[in-house]
Amino acid sequence: MNSYDYIIVGAGSAGCVLANRLSANGQHRVLLLEAGPRDWSPWIHVPVGYGLTHNDPSVNWMYQTEGDAGLGGRPTFWPRGKVLGGSSSINAMVYMRGHRGDYDDWAAAGNPGWSYDDVLPYFKRSEDNARGADAYHGAGGPMHVSDVGAQAHPICRNFLDACAAAGLAPTPDFNGAEMEGTGLWQMTIQDGRRVSSATAFLNPARGRPNLRIETGAHVTRVLFEGNRACGVEFVQGGTKREVRAAREVVLSGGAINSPQLLQLSGIGQGALLQRLGIPVLVDAPMVGQGLQDHVAVCHFYHSKVPTLNQKLYPLLGKVKAALQYAAGRRGPLGMSVNQAGAFVKSRPGLERPNMHVYFNPMSYTPQKSAKRKLTNPDPWPGFLMSFNTCRPTSRGWLAIQSADPFAAPEIHPNSIATPEDIQEVFEGTAMLRRISSQGPLAEILASERNPGPNVTTREAILEDFRQRASTVYHASCTCMMGPDPRSSVVDARLRVHGTQGLRVADASVFPAVTSGNTNAPAIMVGEKASDLLLADL
Ligand SMILES: Cc1cc2nc3c(=O)[nH]c(=O)nc-3n(C[C@H](O)[C@H](O)[C@H](O)COP(=O)(O)OP(=O)(O)OC[C@H]3O[C@@H](n4cnc5c(N)ncnc54)[C@H](O)[C@@H]3O)c2cc1C
Repeated sequence: MNSYDYIIVGAGSAGCVLANRLSANGQHRVLLLEAGPRDWSPWIHVPVGYGLTHNDPSVNWMYQTEGDAGLGGRPTFWPRGKVLGGSSSINAMVYMRGHRGDYDDWAAAGNPGWSYDDVLPYFKRSEDNARGADAYHGAGGPMHVSDVGAQAHPICRNFLDACAAAGLAPTPDFNGAEMEGTGLWQMTIQDGRRVSSATAFLNPARGRPNLRIETGAHVTRVLFEGNRACGVEFVQGGTKREVRAAREVVLSGGAINSPQLLQLSGIGQGALLQRLGIPVLVDAPMVGQGLQDHVAVCHFYHSKVPTLNQKLYPLLGKVKAALQYAAGRRGPLGMSVNQAGAFVKSRPGLERPNMHVYFNPMSYTPQKSAKRKLTNPDPWPGFLMSFNTCRPTSRGWLAIQSADPFAAPEIHPNSIATPEDIQEVFEGTAMLRRISSQGPLAEILASERNPGPNVTTREAILEDFRQRASTVYHASCTCMMGPDPRSSVVDARLRVHGTQGLRVADASVFPAVTSGNTNAPAIMVGEKASDLLLADL
């Protein structure tokens, strides 16, 4: 059996950071195991290509949830990256850290070292912000962050002006002193190419003799001596292999797969494991529990003026966009369609923004199937706004359904299951209508296609949300961090309660989902985890 100091399971947002940092000083032998392939697909690197990787099983786990009562009993489609870079290779590239209060909440929940002031240095360390370094940002770090800036579609200006007319002020920097406000997003894009965790953190470390990267290596179980993790079992090319970890095993499989792997390895709810014939190593009731996500609904509008649809729908437009991209990696293919938005308070008296608003200068017609094709714009001019509550109070769960490591777990999102979350559906809808009725948007808006002008009563608004809302892919909290094994899975040093030599480092350890998108926070977890591991040597 081969042996390494550290084995990292999953080369996603957090795992690639760990592979880089743990191998940096050349003293530790590091093995990174990734179930998916190398990130060779060109659609990973062309920013707009995420519309295609969204439904591509060669780089995507393509999960399907169970019927979700909060969403009218519908199962929904949950893409997750299965490729070097993980979900950072297929995501929409918005760079957002969340509200400083998110991390202060994490620390207050019994997790010393995770307050905003504690984690800010890790955000800065990972970053190479095009705006340069300041009190909130880093420059010269591995991950380039750029402005949508002048490339934004002109109707983003109508959205921002409409927000201003509605009394919503701009913020110069969602990730700076004040998150609240409106603006164009910053993106993990450099010179018209996606910056994934793999391109930022793994590629520069590839040549190190003490780092081994294995793709197509599906980890099926953590191996133990007593309660100490001593290695993992994985299947590669149809062959089962075992590999040893002299120091630690780190699970960075993401919010679905890390709890799945713990359960497969005998760490989970005792009764569940016994029922499935898996020997119980640690009766850990919280594994897979606490699942949080952001659930958003799109409001689609017919536009009186051309939108991105007119550039990306016609064949000629596609050819022009392709030539523009080939000539200098510019134009609509070189950016996300998710370009502008806001963090706002939907009612008076709130301390923090509670509503995340998105504006896309494009519209599409949702597919009847649960899978969405994002790059299929409508033939007519259109755009969309959507919202989700920043800090949902609902929590779901997931669990393995069999001892087969290749079987998908059952996922129960339990969306909008609390009165607070339902109330925020009404407030978010009112917020979008307030913005769309302001002059700068109203003058280019031909009609509200969905939900439509007839959807005005609370019953109709809620029903529309239940029928049309879907995940914005921020699954997290399924191996929550906390001091008490009865209410959490890992401690503040990310060690799995009841074990030795085993940690989890990815979005599953969030005690609560952050107020915005979750890639930068997952990368921050990878950064901090690497320091914790090295400090505990
Ligand atoms: C379609 C989509 C759009 C998104 N848009 C944005 C956005 O615009 N901005 C933003 O901030 N966030 C966005 N997100 C969310 C963000 O990308 C994720 O929260 C983040 O990438 C999660 O990082 P992670 O390290 O927890 O897991 P992941 O990045 O998902 O990495 C997990 C890795 O582990 C591997 N793995 C899993 N199980 C095994 C196993 N058993 N053996 C070996 N390898 C395994 C997986 O294949 C994967 O590579 C989006 C996500 C998706 C899916």
